[in-house]
Amino acid sequence: MRRVMGYEARFRCVAGCAGTYPLDQVIYRCPSCGELLEVAHDLEALRDRSAAAWMRLFDERWMSTRWPYGSGVWGKKEWVAPGVRDECVVSMAEGGSNLFWAERYGSSLGVGDLWLKLCGNSHTGSFKDLGMTVLVSVVRQMITDGKPIRAIACASTGDTSAALAAYCAAAGIRAVVLLPKGKISTAQLVQPLANGALVLALDTDFDGCMALVQKLADEPGVYLANSMNSLRLEGQKTVALEMVQQFDWQVPDWVIIPGGNLGNVSALGAGFEMMMTLGLITKRPRICVAQAQAANPLYRAYKQGWDSFEAMTAEPTEASAIRIGNPVSVRRAIRTLKAFDGVVEQASEEELSEAAAAADRTGTYACPHTGVALAALEKLVARREIKKGDRAVVISTANGLKFTDFKVRYHEGRIPGTSGRGRNVPVELPPDYEAVKRAVLSDLDRSAK
Ligand SMILES: *Cc1c(COP(=O)(O)O)cnc(C)c1O
Ligand SMILES: [Zn+2]
Repeated sequence: MRRVMGYEARFRCVAGCAGTYPLDQVIYRCPSCGELLEVAHDLEALRDRSAAAWMRLFDERWMSTRWPYGSGVWGKKEWVAPGVRDECVVSMAEGGSNLFWAERYGSSLGVGDLWLKLCGNSHTGSFKDLGMTVLVSVVRQMITDGKPIRAIACASTGDTSAALAAYCAAAGIRAVVLLPKGKISTAQLVQPLANGALVLALDTDFDGCMALVQKLADEPGVYLANSMNSLRLEGQKTVALEMVQQFDWQVPDWVIIPGGNLGNVSALGAGFEMMMTLGLITKRPRICVAQAQAANPLYRAYKQGWDSFEAMTAEPTEASAIRIGNPVSVRRAIRTLKAFDGVVEQASEEELSEAAAAADRTGTYACPHTGVALAALEKLVARREIKKGDRAVVISTANGLKFTDFKVRYHEGRIPGTSGRGRNVPVELPPDYEAVKRAVLSDLDRSAK
C-alpha cells in the first residue's frame, strides 16, 4: 500500500519472526511459524508530532462531520490504517460512543467512580463495527486497485456477521457469513439477512464455523474477516484511545471487558501501549477479562498460573457472543494480561443475569455479555481488588436491544437459578379506572416502604 502522509503500517508475526507484509496483501498467518500476524506502525514516523499535538488533533476531529474524521475510528486514522485512501473508506460514523457515569449502580456496589463505555451504541449495535470499518475499507481499496477479491467471509457468534453484512452492503461487496444454527439471537440473524448477505446457518457451534471459514478463505477471491485478521483489531484499538480522550487524557485504574475470541482485549491493550509509547499517557490501567463460566478456557488457564492453555467445548450460555471454546487470539490476550497486571474472572448464568438486571434497575439496558463483565466487577469489588476510590470502566460490548430473548427469559423467570429479585412483568388489567388507580396507588405504597 502506498505511503500516505509519511506514516506506514505493515503486518508482522506476533511471535517475532523476521519479515513484514503490506496491509493489502492477502495473508493471515506467518509463513515461517504459522502464528497470527499483528499490525506494526512506524512509530518513529508518528513521533513527528508531540503527544500534545496528537491530542489536539484528535480533539479537533472528535465527532465532526469532516470526512472521514468524524468517525471515532478514522479520527485516529494515522494510528489505525494510514495507507487507506479517504475515498476508499467505508464508514458509518462508528465509534465516539458514550462513556456513561453509572452513578447509582456504582454506589450500590460502593464504587463511586464507575463508568460504562457503551460500545453497543453503534451502527449495528456492537463494537464489531469499529474493526469492520477498517477491514472493509482495506478490501475496498484492494478491489479498487485491481485485486481479484469477490467476497468477504466470516464465522460469527452474531455480531461480527451483522457488522460485516452492513459494511459490505454499504460498499457494494458480497458478504458471506457462517453462523451456528439456533445459537444466536433473532436480531443478530435478521441483521445480515436484511443487509443482503449470503447467510449459511450450520448445525455446529462457533468453533465449527470458524474451522470451515478458514478453509473457505483458501479459495481464490474469498477474503477472511475474522479477528485472526488483525486489521479488525486496529479499529477496535480506538476504544482505548477514546476512553482516555473522554477522560481528558486520563487513564482509568481498571478496564473490565467480556472476552470470547479474545481479540478485543488484545486490541485495547495495543491501544494503551501505543499511547504509552507515543507519550500520551504514562501509566497502564489494570485489565480484567470476564468470561462466561460455560465458555471459560482463559479463566482456567489463568487459575493455573498461565502454565497451560487448553481449548474446551463451550457450553450454552445467555452470553452467546462469547460462547467460544478455542479462542483464536489467546496468545495475544495472555501477553496483554501479563503486561497490564491483568486478571480473569468468570460469571455463571445466574450471576450474569442478576448483574445485568441489577444494572438495568439503575437505568442501563445491559446485554448478557455486559452482564458477565458487571458480575466480574462485583467480584473484584467484593475482593477489594477494585478499591473504593478506583476509577473503573466496564466495556459494554453490545446493545441490549439485540438480546430481547434474554431479557424476556429473565423477567419471565425462565433462567434457571435466578432469584427473581429483579423480575418485572406487565400487570394485566381491564380498561377500568378503579382497577388502574388501585394498581398504581398500591404500587406507590409498596415502594414507599
Ligand atoms: C465479539 C463480542 C465479544 C467478545 O469479543 P472477543 O474479541 O471475541 O473477545 C463480547 N461481546 C459481544 C457482544 C461481542 O459481539
Ligand atoms: Zn512467525
